[in-house]
Amino acid sequence: MKEEKKLKIVLFTGYACNNNCAFCVDADKRAFPQKTTAGLLREVLRAKTKGAYILEIIGGEATIRPDFNRVVAAAKKLGIPQVTCATNGRVFADPAAARRIVRSGIDALIFSVHGPDARTHDALTRAPGSFSQLKKGLKNLRALGFERVSGNTTVVKQNMAALPALAEFYIRNRVRNVEYIFVDPTYGGAKNDFKALVPRISKAAPYMRRALALGRAAGLDQWKVRYVPLCYFKDCTGQISEINERGLFLTEHWAPDFVNKDAIGSRAAVSRKKTARCRGCRLYSACEGVWVEYLKNYGDAELKPVI
Ligand code: SF4
Repeated sequence: MKEEKKLKIVLFTGYACNNNCAFCVDADKRAFPQKTTAGLLREVLRAKTKGAYILEIIGGEATIRPDFNRVVAAAKKLGIPQVTCATNGRVFADPAAARRIVRSGIDALIFSVHGPDARTHDALTRAPGSFSQLKKGLKNLRALGFERVSGNTTVVKQNMAALPALAEFYIRNRVRNVEYIFVDPTYGGAKNDFKALVPRISKAAPYMRRALALGRAAGLDQWKVRYVPLCYFKDCTGQISEINERGLFLTEHWAPDFVNKDAIGSRAAVSRKKTARCRGCRLYSACEGVWVEYLKNYGDAELKPVI
């Protein structure tokens, strides 16, 4: 019997952040009011009532909120099975803060790492010291016995050649789940500064593939790539996030300025596109194509139908 999809709710706390990533999709929303504690607690209850299996708490940067642990603890007390947070990891450099967050009952953390070294990472986060804090954070979590840390990396022109070195960083830190995410230029930093940040997929894909291969060689075959046209990854379609999540989750986004009841479906329908070149491609139905914004800037000449 086919297993039912699980409900994943991505709860945005607001867009305030202690980093200032050049490519951030929320770059133009920083001044938008943060959600209140009472509002977040109401949403946590609503998520439980709706049957959420995963509650992913994100910002901006959710961990800088004084009420972060309270929101996590409330979700766990209500019995939401998986409460996770995507974070820039800086707060965990403080051992006491790391301990408090672990004690709140958080099930897993997703660290955003955008380079294998401070030079690459900090240039993108535009927050000096952010890489060193993230590394301390990983160490502190390990000292607390908290191992459920995964990684995500936004792939842009400035870091694509460093992806193999970053893969080695993830391997050294025993990060079992990693996503290499081709930058989203639909809104924010990468839309505003497209040519400076967004690489050609034909240039980025070899580095992304190399990172996946390094992971596989180290026994880490759960690493994935996201937001890519499948023609550049046709021999590793088992490592495409969109294909994986489509089969497993119904995803809702609850943000301060919008609610999206089908984040996966609407992204495929609105923000990404296949073109006339894709006709006859045998990966057509599995593939979401490329970002609409990408096509506006670079066209579709790189797409290579798989026959
Ligand atoms: S040719 Fe089009 S449908 Fe085929 S894999 Fe590439 S982007 Fe996807």
